[in-house]
Amino acid sequence: MTINKLENTIPQLKELRQMEDIFWINPNKESVEEANAKVEYSMADILDASDRLERFAPFIKRAFSDTVETNGMIESFITEIPEFKSYLESYYLTPIHGKIYLKRDDSLPIAGTIKARGAIYEVLKHAETIAIEAGLLSGFDDDYTKFISPEFRDFFSGRQIVVGTTGNLGISVGTMARALGFEVVIHMSVEAKDWKKEFLRSRGVKVVEHNTNFTEAVNQGRMESMVNPVSYFVDDEHSVDLFMGYTVGGLRLKKQLDEAGITVDADHPLFVYLPCGIGGSPGGITFGLKQVFGDHVHCFFAEPAHMPSMLLGLMTQEYDNINVSDIDIDGKTVMDGLAVPQTSGFVAELMEHYFDGGLTVSERDSMHLLAKMNDLENIQLEPAALAGTPGPSRLFQTKEGQAFLVELSLSGKKNNITHIAWATGGSMVPEEDMEAFIQEGLKTY
Ligand SMILES: *Cc1c(COP(=O)(O)O)cnc(C)c1O
Repeated sequence: MTINKLENTIPQLKELRQMEDIFWINPNKESVEEANAKVEYSMADILDASDRLERFAPFIKRAFSDTVETNGMIESFITEIPEFKSYLESYYLTPIHGKIYLKRDDSLPIAGTIKARGAIYEVLKHAETIAIEAGLLSGFDDDYTKFISPEFRDFFSGRQIVVGTTGNLGISVGTMARALGFEVVIHMSVEAKDWKKEFLRSRGVKVVEHNTNFTEAVNQGRMESMVNPVSYFVDDEHSVDLFMGYTVGGLRLKKQLDEAGITVDADHPLFVYLPCGIGGSPGGITFGLKQVFGDHVHCFFAEPAHMPSMLLGLMTQEYDNINVSDIDIDGKTVMDGLAVPQTSGFVAELMEHYFDGGLTVSERDSMHLLAKMNDLENIQLEPAALAGTPGPSRLFQTKEGQAFLVELSLSGKKNNITHIAWATGGSMVPEEDMEAFIQEGLKTY
């Protein structure tokens, strides 16, 4: 395929290639009803995942003291950010209608990033499956606090879990798998921060460092795991379980918004902006939200302008057959959680009729907004977690966003919009690393 030719037929591909900030409306989005008719997953799968997390809650509560308050539920809260909203209006010179909230997955228990939703779910599901197969657990109504017993730990210690990651997936998989007693091997890409490697090693995880990008680290992990019959590979590119773990986040948001008195209906639309790496977390959460709120929720994924792999995959409909390097993008980004050069084909094809669109964010804006979030709201996020925050500005500022509002007949309802920027990580970052991020951001003032 020749990119120059594609550029003539695909609007915005040229801007994407030039690493500009764009706001893209997905021409292949359909109504939730139509999209649902094309996929094999449904609300039943989300409820199955949600039930599994509930079964494990008594174990989680015993194993992780930071979940005592939530009774073993791994969940975060929402925070309105009015000062930051005002700042966005002046920074991007565009009024923002409606309120902006942050979804605080930066403070999720156990692992402090959005990965805790999918990764921990997948590890638990695997543990449950093999414990039942081995006759250790009698069934779903057995006592799940048994997972903390020496007998269970012994059983898991002869088994291995392997994952390839830019870092945060490893923290979530590693922490939960070690708590259960598994042997854990984590293949880290070149972006992975030193503190993540040290943190994992201190928990008895074998860390394999690669001098290559995420896609390569994953391939290495997959190959190593395949040759070992007691090894299980958490596959960020293809895993349905990982995806299902994320969907529960969408399901649970409904109750949270109800409790906060926030209405979502035809007159009160919800706009959600989700940082996107391989696509699993924004995909899964969008899938969950669409099942719950139907066509009243609009979901946009947010990527570094230097690493727009989902946008590239969906725009060209080449999914995981195209890499950002194919359009001469350097793939260099401070948003390490999003440093994925080639998207997940599974997620991209599954979500192509659900995502409302996507946006790209510059390196400068990610660091600038990180420092401003600290200054104005006293919230400390890692660079990737800021990616969604320019979303509301893009919606009102760009011709694409304005046309979208007109097409959906939302122009008269602008002030009723609830915007949620999903803050995907931050609380685990060591103080000195966070301070360095903030100093970097301050340089852009
Ligand atoms: C992994 C990650 C994301 C994106 O999740 P994907 O499933 O890779 O799309 C967003 N933010 C942070 C902090 C992450 O670690």
